[in-house]
Amino acid sequence: MRFCTFVVAVLLALPLCAAEATRELAITIDDLPIGGPTPDLETIQRINARMLEVLAAHKAPAIGFVNEGRVDVEGETAARTAILESWLDAGLPLGNHTYSHLSFHDTPLKQFTDDILRGEAITRRLMEALGQQPRYFRHPFTRTGPTAEAKAALETFLAEHGYRVAPFTVENADYAFNVVYLRARAAGDAALAERTRSAYLDFTDAMFDYFERLAADVFERAIRQVLLIHVNALNADCLDEMLSRLERRGYRFVSLDRALEDPAYASPETYVGRMGLSWLHRWAVSRGLPLRVRDEPDPPEFIWRLYQSAQ
Ligand SMILES: [Zn+2]
Repeated sequence: MRFCTFVVAVLLALPLCAAEATRELAITIDDLPIGGPTPDLETIQRINARMLEVLAAHKAPAIGFVNEGRVDVEGETAARTAILESWLDAGLPLGNHTYSHLSFHDTPLKQFTDDILRGEAITRRLMEALGQQPRYFRHPFTRTGPTAEAKAALETFLAEHGYRVAPFTVENADYAFNVVYLRARAAGDAALAERTRSAYLDFTDAMFDYFERLAADVFERAIRQVLLIHVNALNADCLDEMLSRLERRGYRFVSLDRALEDPAYASPETYVGRMGLSWLHRWAVSRGLPLRVRDEPDPPEFIWRLYQSAQ
């Protein structure tokens, strides 16, 4: 009897384990060498080193998207270039996120493509020295164009220059939490800093809950997910716990190349508008389903209030 109970328990657990083990996530990290409010060089170096250390510890093959305008800084260009080299030394590829982080929604095509080419000078040199080249482009604010024509023209330009658009499916408003976290620390408010950190990790869980459900609604299955976060102090301090939670959730970390081999990423994506939406929303509306962006969880009220007051 006891044996039967054991067998039933194993049989019940097996499909769950199998399902859990198949979850895959690519991590994409924007705004190298630093996102949001800019600290001093030493802090930027420490933040990047810590994030690389955590990614290595979790065997997470992330990709970093560079704004060379934040590398090309008088007196610090060599040190900031060395930060990019540290990503490549860790075996992580780099992608193009434009030179100056312009919004394509508000920028003429020629000006925008000039900013893309200006934004690859250092990255391309570093990668070519290793026999690689930048292959992914991430739109600033993930705004993909004001019209269908502009969007298509940019995609043609990108293809001609060897780039593929890097989509994302999950984000977690880390930029807003980061601003509150930095202000709390600057004010010596350890309680608020800890409350922010804890709320950020819980909000990340809530966003995975939401986007996993949305993927199931759109594709009737789990898909390989792509997370978008930024290089910042908050992630330097939270990434280890975040990745541990994701592992407990059943994810293993894969390259962006592998994530995009999921057929979901070949789905039509016809969204045009100002919002930097998750590709899950884009695929939904492209299939004639309603846009459900209003259903997305919101960060806690105190985060939005303190973030807005800091702007
Ligand atoms: Zn960005």
